[in-house]
Amino acid sequence: MRNIKYIILHHSATDYKQNDEDTTGKQIAKTICDRAQEKWKKEFPAYKCDYHFIIGHTGEVFKAQPIEQPAWHCTNYQANLVSAGICFLGNFENIEMPIEQFNASVKLIKTLMKEYNIPLTNILRHRDVVSDITHTSTSTQCPGKNFPYIHTLDALRNGEPFFDIGEDYPYIKEIKFLKQLGIIKGDGYGNFRPKEYITREEAMLMAYRLLKLLQS
Ligand SMILES: [Zn+2]
Repeated sequence: MRNIKYIILHHSATDYKQNDEDTTGKQIAKTICDRAQEKWKKEFPAYKCDYHFIIGHTGEVFKAQPIEQPAWHCTNYQANLVSAGICFLGNFENIEMPIEQFNASVKLIKTLMKEYNIPLTNILRHRDVVSDITHTSTSTQCPGKNFPYIHTLDALRNGEPFFDIGEDYPYIKEIKFLKQLGIIKGDGYGNFRPKEYITREEAMLMAYRLLKLLQS
């Protein structure tokens, strides 16, 4: 079995359907696969797609590249070998994700996480992966600025406030309480980072949020 450690999220940066008849996105998903097959047909005649799964706006999930085979969804060779690529149809630089597409993706990611024992910290956006070509992450906007990454992580977390602290963490009750009130929000990637110092800026922000709350 291929060692799948990461799930990497992409958008197609296209319309979410090919034409008026293409309600589920099946046709545009096929076009995406056809293009990849055309590109790789000499080197890898069995190649199916640059993504393992393609999800349409109505929540339809299309299986593309067989999961046991790597796909070239990132410009990072090592990351492609050990990851599954999911492509969300649509351009999330411009549009918001419909709830049906969001819910279908959470269901799919949960299944893959369970099957391959993938931790939440390894669910990444394409833009989080360092490129072999540019040697930076964020060398691409993929999957777009409106992609609901934090919401996806929240939906996958099963009620725990942050990824890096579990129910057995000594101050979990206090941390949950402060998060519920919006006084602490984590590092933007869903981590609490319990061992790190806070900056003056962060301390001010927490004091500000608390005082605002007391005023209201
Ligand atoms: Zn991408």
